[in-house]
Amino acid sequence: MKRFGLLGHPVAHSISPRLHQAAYNALGLAHEYALIDCPTEQELALQVERLKAGELAGANITLPHKVRALSLASLADPLAERTGAANTLVREGSQIVAYNTDVLALITELSSAPKGVLLVLGAGGAALAAVAAGERLGFKAIYVTARKFINRGGSPTSSWPNAESFQRLGAKLVPWQSEESRRAAIQASLIVQATSSGLAQASSEFSLKPSSPASAARSAGVHEVIPWLELSPEAQLYDVVYNPLHTAFLAHAEGLGLKARGGLSMLVEQAALALELWLPVEAPREIMREAAFIAMSGRANAEIE
Ligand code: NDP
Repeated sequence: MKRFGLLGHPVAHSISPRLHQAAYNALGLAHEYALIDCPTEQELALQVERLKAGELAGANITLPHKVRALSLASLADPLAERTGAANTLVREGSQIVAYNTDVLALITELSSAPKGVLLVLGAGGAALAAVAAGERLGFKAIYVTARKFINRGGSPTSSWPNAESFQRLGAKLVPWQSEESRRAAIQASLIVQATSSGLAQASSEFSLKPSSPASAARSAGVHEVIPWLELSPEAQLYDVVYNPLHTAFLAHAEGLGLKARGGLSMLVEQAALALELWLPVEAPREIMREAAFIAMSGRANAEIE
């Protein structure tokens, strides 16, 4: 029996154990996947020591430790290194190697989109993964906008979250609800919604429309986050959020006849890839997807990972 775990804080509501347990059952393996709450970086480091000592056979990393996990590893896969964050730690001999299966999963998920302009909403780990995937897929231009990116009359400042990491990956940062973000959306062949807005317990969706009357807002330089009616009819949309399964973002896109997908497949794929890094097996993706779907349907109002 091997023991795997998810390290993060909070982790209590994660459905990851359901996906991995379903895979172990299907493969006839007696392994366990535990939720390991790490409120501090010291606790994270302690768990990485347990991984080194063989008490854990492998670990996934979630908020807020994906960046720190990379630096605790002895080696990093080039994609994790380039992204600057890791979500999977693998023990290889005496070394701990960091991988980023969020990026690998998004490369699969986004591969069929036309590789023109990519616009990513959000400034956290999921946005970083989307930009790294976009870079690897060869999008012609990548823009990122986030609500902390506000116009201060100049170029992006280092106070913008993850600004340097995004720029290192070749993305251009544009202020939230600005004329630049509007233009990027209009040109986009793919828009990835990578904010946590849309989580069932999030206090509010980000405003899909200007809060003041549209014309007044526009004259004050404030634009819709997504100028829905100006998007290319060929534009594709992807929401990394999977709780709820059907977000307001997806509903809006579908209402306009645009091609749109939610983040459950990404969740399944990143878990499947992690499992394949830890064990010499092919992950039973359909079984994992079914387990994820059942777990999500059973807890439509819970906030998870
Ligand atoms: P982070 O907390 O690192 O980043 C969240 C981002 O969303 C921040 O930029 C935050 O802005 C922004 N945000 C939150 N609420 C709003 C709002 N109401 N309006 C505008 N912006 C908002 O989270 P992650 O990047 O790790 O995760 C983001 C989402 O992606 C989560 O819902 C997570 O569940 C999902 N995810 C899905 C995965 C999958 O496999 N499908 C994998 C990883 C993540 P601010 O900093 O201002 O708060």
